[in-house]
Amino acid sequence: MGKPMHIPAAVARLADPRLYGAACSGMAPAFDVEPLDGEEQQERAERLAVAVKVCTGCPVRAACGTVAEELGRYAAGLVWSGTARGVRGRPRKDMR
Ligand code: SF4
Repeated sequence: MGKPMHIPAAVARLADPRLYGAACSGMAPAFDVEPLDGEEQQERAERLAVAVKVCTGCPVRAACGTVAEELGRYAAGLVWSGTARGVRGRPRKDMR
């Protein structure tokens, strides 16, 4: 048996059947925690506020939180279930 494969969080979100019907489908990279190329901090904050709002109405939000917990540090760098997960996979204090 080989080593477990690391699947990037964004791909995991697309592939996990528990997240079919996700409200964020097709919205990448709007859920990236880090600033996009040339993006100012205020723009980033506004973009992530919209992402969090999308999560509020998402039909699979509870499952999304479960998947993020299962992925742990591999969930880092994206908004999951309305929470931005930083570089270590933990919720960011500035986005709660
Ligand atoms: S809760 Fe948010 S991040 Fe999770 S699947 Fe829904 S829209 Fe996407």
